[in-house]
Amino acid sequence: MKPAVSSAPVALRVTRGQIIARGLTHRCPNCGAHSLFRENAWFRLNSDCRNCGFAFERGGDEGFFLGSMSLNYGVTLMGFLLPVALLAFFGVVSGRVAVGLAVGGAVIFPMLFYRSSRSWWLMNYYFFLPHHLPANGGTGRAGGDANT
Ligand SMILES: [Zn+2]
Repeated sequence: MKPAVSSAPVALRVTRGQIIARGLTHRCPNCGAHSLFRENAWFRLNSDCRNCGFAFERGGDEGFFLGSMSLNYGVTLMGFLLPVALLAFFGVVSGRVAVGLAVGGAVIFPMLFYRSSRSWWLMNYYFFLPHHLPANGGTGRAGGDANT
């Protein structure tokens, strides 16, 4: 006999609102612990959460965080370089100042935004696929559960 399948949506233990809040504050998307990045190392993501063991690094899917680089480039362009160009265009700053700001900012801004871009990329993934989180019954990855 075939088991009855419910078409009712399964309630999420971790909601999309919680995923956004955790992503914006660089917390584990699964449990909310402050363990996404290593202490005293700005550019080092922990391989997994120290609280719940959720794996941040994706063995076998090295390209996963390429999206965070694209996000970082996009935010640098729209959030810093475009405003500098507009300031120069409208004569608020001189061309030399704008070039100096653009060159310096194109290096410094992505470095400062690095942690947010990683965290926001994880947030983006689990916002659209919240059922992949272990707290919501998934395995953390696509293809690991019936909800792929
Ligand atoms: Zn966790």
